[in-house]
Amino acid sequence: MRRAFLRRAAALVILIAVLALPACAGREPLRATFTAMDTVMTFTVYGKKASLENAESTVRALEKKLSVTDAGSEIYAINEHGGGYADSETLGLIRAALGFAERTGGALDITVYPAVRAWGFTTGEYRVPSDEELSALLEKVDWTGVMTDSGGCKLRQGMMLDLGAVAKGYASDRLRAQLEDEGVESAILNLGGNVMCVGKKPDGSDWSVAITDPEGGEYACVIKVGDAAVVTSGGYQRFFEQDGVIYRHIIDPATGRPVDNGLASVTVIAQSGLTADALSTALYVMGLEKAIEFWRASDDFEAVFITEDGRLIATEGIAPVLSVRGRFRGTEPEIVKK
Ligand code: AMP
Ligand code: MG
Repeated sequence: MRRAFLRRAAALVILIAVLALPACAGREPLRATFTAMDTVMTFTVYGKKASLENAESTVRALEKKLSVTDAGSEIYAINEHGGGYADSETLGLIRAALGFAERTGGALDITVYPAVRAWGFTTGEYRVPSDEELSALLEKVDWTGVMTDSGGCKLRQGMMLDLGAVAKGYASDRLRAQLEDEGVESAILNLGGNVMCVGKKPDGSDWSVAITDPEGGEYACVIKVGDAAVVTSGGYQRFFEQDGVIYRHIIDPATGRPVDNGLASVTVIAQSGLTADALSTALYVMGLEKAIEFWRASDDFEAVFITEDGRLIATEGIAPVLSVRGRFRGTEPEIVKK
């Protein structure tokens, strides 16, 4: 299982191999870069131009439905009215996210939005809320307060949903299915830190996906995977500084405060983009020790952790296909075993 998984697995942001790839007998890579879901996306598809265009349209349609800030979205209307209509796809995603909330002991919580908003992470108007404000907001953060039925969902008083921690991963799963339906066997989609490797490279080899060094500069490492999602969550992706303190965009639902546990980033490699997205956020909230325990009790993902004090730790299923780069060159990654 692990070997099969490894063969399918792949990692983050830069598509070194794609860029370096020679054109394959009439199969030039088609590439599009655009902004959607509040991030820059780059899709590389070996196939027809229509497939690339359809992929972009699908992401935009999903964004319209799922955005927390777009006044026309289903999620916006649900937040405005304490509940309401959600189509079967949105409902499925809400239910799946609630499942991950349960599985992760609430580390992933799609009702954390009132706290995310209070810190200014959705508006860019950053501020540090008072203790009183946060404890009042925390009463509205509780994923068990979301009820769903076939027509939509209902939220407990004052609660709001934010699918930002799972939407890109879900979108990547939909895109893979759509591309496969269209006969595309080889594509790599980078949805701003969420990478989906569809199949293998046209020459049959695995994709190389580089994992960003949270400190900047050269990449921290590269992993080689095929047909897998590689998703990174990290405080470096969005933060602000006030009075010498850095506040990061992932919030611990237990405190309403930005996570500050010594982890700089967590990368999750899984067959499902949704799983990788949900769990990379949740594992970042858990912190290294709990995250490793969680991995030991799971069999659907591998992970790479980078700590603020400069450790690079890989689970044993991904370690064999990981090679260090940048400031980690010349060191061995720490390997965690089951
Ligand atoms: P990601 O980049 O997938 O780790 O998701 C981070 C985004 O999800 C943040 O920018 C917030 O909008 C939202 N978020 C922050 N903390 C949490 C959390 N603990 N659970 C769910 N969503 C969160
Ligand atoms: Mg996520």
